[in-house]
Amino acid sequence: MARELEQRGDRVQRLQEARDALATLLANSIATDLRERERGGDASADDDDFVDLAQEVAIQEDREAVLDVLRRDMRAFDQAWQKAEAGTYGVCEDCGEGISAERLEFMPEATLCVPCQARRERAWLGAR
Ligand SMILES: [Zn+2]
Repeated sequence: MARELEQRGDRVQRLQEARDALATLLANSIATDLRERERGGDASADDDDFVDLAQEVAIQEDREAVLDVLRRDMRAFDQAWQKAEAGTYGVCEDCGEGISAERLEFMPEATLCVPCQARRERAWLGAR
């Protein structure tokens, strides 16, 4: 039991570290995005070269796509973190079984076990 608690503590710490790293990455990406937007705004005001403008728009869209992914990941981490605070980290939301250590190692923000995740993905794909 003591060993189990210790392992859980390690996992929660890993979750926290991964979440902190993601939060830093997200903050940096947002700062870069803002800087680039300001710079891009200046450039297009000075020179109305359509190729540059098109490139700028494409780059901007890429950055937004990256930010979307980071924000979604952050939400997953926040959910996992709430569970850690409630003492239910590593417990599957759907079936209440423990999520395997290997899965948590690979994906600390997981809130579903592999079979439940697979079932949800199948349901989601089926609904489309
Ligand atoms: Zn499950």
